[in-house]
Amino acid sequence: MASVGFIGLGNMGGPMAANLVKAGFAVKAFDLGEAACARARERGCTIVPSVAEAASDVDVVVSMLPAGTHVRAVYTGPEGVLAHARPGTLMIDCSTIDVDSARVVAKACEEAGMAMIDAPVSGGVGGAEAGTLTFMVGGPDVSFEAAQPYLQAMGKTIVHAGGAGNGQAAKICNNMLLGIGMIGTCEAFALAGRLGLDAQKLFDISSKASGQNWSMTSYCPVPGPVPASPANRAYQPGFAADMMLKDLKLAQDAAAKVGAATPLGGAAEALYQLFSAQGHGGMDFSGIIKMLDGSLGRDA
Ligand code: NAD
Repeated sequence: MASVGFIGLGNMGGPMAANLVKAGFAVKAFDLGEAACARARERGCTIVPSVAEAASDVDVVVSMLPAGTHVRAVYTGPEGVLAHARPGTLMIDCSTIDVDSARVVAKACEEAGMAMIDAPVSGGVGGAEAGTLTFMVGGPDVSFEAAQPYLQAMGKTIVHAGGAGNGQAAKICNNMLLGIGMIGTCEAFALAGRLGLDAQKLFDISSKASGQNWSMTSYCPVPGPVPASPANRAYQPGFAADMMLKDLKLAQDAAAKVGAATPLGGAAEALYQLFSAQGHGGMDFSGIIKMLDGSLGRDA
């Protein structure tokens, strides 16, 4: 059975590595944090003391790290993956990072005789645990095919978005749209409240009318209409507002670099920045309705 080196065993990486173990892969894993390593060891990973050891003598390296700076350092640093992996190793970076970093690291891999795909995910910690993540993949066709057994062990939907960096491009475009859509949905419910229109009535109408969107029908920001949504559990995440803010910043940075006009994306970033600055970055991102309807802190 093929062997995997896994780097970054946090909220997402821990369960993803565990699902690779469940699928029968031998997983050598590394994280800077002791607690993350201990949890991964309990779930069947062999913990190693460095990036170098995780990347040595494996068929595939999977990484799940916070940001582009970490990914650049882990792959191209002096004691990094590229310095220690054997030629032909397939690299799968699942972190959400900036498109430029994804392309720079993919090029460095190619120059070292190794293939890389960027494969950011949606589905959150629940999807990581259940092995039902969606992967958005950028990279060559042959690497996309070679990665299938590993991605299938961790996810359910796997989409090839094009060349290097396009997985990250898909992720930030989708999440920019999600942030804008959530704020729009929250504004509609806040306005309905002021106009004396019952939230359930607005849901019954809009979920079947032209205002219909995912933030309303699957993740409704008011309690009641969608029982599984975080609004029904005091906006516990879910998907934290600070994670949405991270993705909106990535989208705005990317837009500025290529000269794309994304004024609503910019407004969404500013609103999530304000929400976070008020101390609510750990709340689910749908909790921004409480800032928009003026109820924040009133019933806390
Ligand atoms: P996390 O902070 O829980 O985990 C990141 C891990 O990386 C930490 O355990 C940290 O110790 C480790 N790490 C950092 N630098 C390292 C290094 N040099 N070597 C080894 N380990 C190192 O974050 P997370 O929630 O697991 O998110 C990981 C990535 O997934 C992020 O890019 C995030 O944007 C993305 N993501 C998260 C979610 C979510 O719901 N949590 C959803 C989709 C995508």
